[in-house]
Amino acid sequence: MAIATVSPVTGETLKTFTPLTSEEIQSKIAIAQTSLEAYRNTTFAQRSQWLHQAADLLEKNSTEYGKIMTVEMGKTLKSAIAEAKKCALVCRYYADHGAEFLKDIPGESDGSAAFVRYQPLGVILAVMPWNFPFWQVFRFAAPALMAGNVGLLKHASNVPQCAIAIQEIIEQAGFPPGVFQTLLIGASQVEEVLADERVQAATLTGSEYAGASLAATAGKYIKKTVLELGGSDPFIVLNSADLELAVSTAVTARMLNNGQSCIAAKRFILQTGIADQFIEQLTARFEALKIGDPMDDSVDVGPLATASIRQEIDQQVQKTVAMGGKVLTGGHPLDRPGNFYPPTILTDIPPDSPGALEEFFGPVALVFRVNDLEEAIRLANGINLGLGASVWTEDEGERDRLINDIEAGAVFVNGLVKSDPRLPFGGIKRSGYGRELSIQGIQEFVNIKTVWIR
Ligand code: NDP
Repeated sequence: MAIATVSPVTGETLKTFTPLTSEEIQSKIAIAQTSLEAYRNTTFAQRSQWLHQAADLLEKNSTEYGKIMTVEMGKTLKSAIAEAKKCALVCRYYADHGAEFLKDIPGESDGSAAFVRYQPLGVILAVMPWNFPFWQVFRFAAPALMAGNVGLLKHASNVPQCAIAIQEIIEQAGFPPGVFQTLLIGASQVEEVLADERVQAATLTGSEYAGASLAATAGKYIKKTVLELGGSDPFIVLNSADLELAVSTAVTARMLNNGQSCIAAKRFILQTGIADQFIEQLTARFEALKIGDPMDDSVDVGPLATASIRQEIDQQVQKTVAMGGKVLTGGHPLDRPGNFYPPTILTDIPPDSPGALEEFFGPVALVFRVNDLEEAIRLANGINLGLGASVWTEDEGERDRLINDIEAGAVFVNGLVKSDPRLPFGGIKRSGYGRELSIQGIQEFVNIKTVWIR
């Protein structure tokens, strides 16, 4: 994919960028390595101050940064502004708690003393997606920089201006030059970076294909990775649920980011007692959503980020329908310029169709009916993905079963699955491994050094 800003609203190419040459990549890795030597010895207090300054910039200029996101990938401006502000939160979170999370831990041993010291690993590569073009990067950068690591960002090829803006924020915040650099490179150049012996580890958020490819390279060179890949999160509503709240949350959970979120609710698993009512209300609410220019404050759903994402989701819908699935609303790309796809609901989804097995990265709700709790759990777990799950019940026994038996990195009871700097975030199965955020996130890219003293 060319590195370019292409308007998701009009399809027009607004700006193109030339990928770095091999020599330029080498020179940036050399800068990263040189910066690391001094940066790793800066104090937590100093790093904390720089992170707070980054947060100040993100808050102060949230509209400006929001516009860059909206222009490049089509999320609504109001959600883009909120994203910039959420990035400030994660910066402040690690600025305030990083030192505590990484303090020495005393241990017992046969020596006079023993302890664990957390030290930076070094230069870390972050391969990031376009869907939350600021948030995904800051939730890597804030803990990585607080831990004393140095970052190299390979951002998605359709959000180069976001990538450049992020490097500028980190530099303007006062971090030493070279501590965080954007590499404008294509996916095929990632291997060269990761293979370099000055690069110690990598994190990737994106598709299974990209994750497997990065992890294969990392395996070859014996480097640590964290992968945050796709999900087809269940949204289970049982007969005892607060239906009104469940339906309104379902709309937000599916339409967030124009439907392009790894933790969006994608499979709606409804118990028969409430299924008809739920479907009727969901359909009415989907049809009431306003689709249009994401810069317009009154718009609920903007375009998909790229033409290929739109094509892919449409193919998944058409294939599911050809196999027997039924469309309740939407179901075809809108006949207008740009990557617009309407809020869509599919029911009667055959078990071997894309609707049952694959992630739908767009505004499509996949609806399933079940008779009881057992069937709901079986269906929710019957997929090789496990990022999050939203479960709706007022019954304590049902709640405990769901918390224990759902196969996912997170279970949210009577609420929307969301990321929060204070809670770990990540998946199981083919949704990936490792955790971001919270104490677990900052401890992914550190050397857990055992110290023993006679
Ligand atoms: P990709 O996984 O292709 O892109 C994510 C990042 O990985 C980008 O920076 C991309 O670079 C890079 N990349 C792609 N291929 C490789 C590779 N072989 N080695 C190293 N890096 C690579 O996502 P897409 O944008 O193509 O979206 C496709 C699907 O991925 C979506 O439909 C969705 O299912 C899933 N996805 C999931 C996300 C999540 O949050 N979990 C986020 C985005 C997508 P480049 O842009 O240059 O190709």
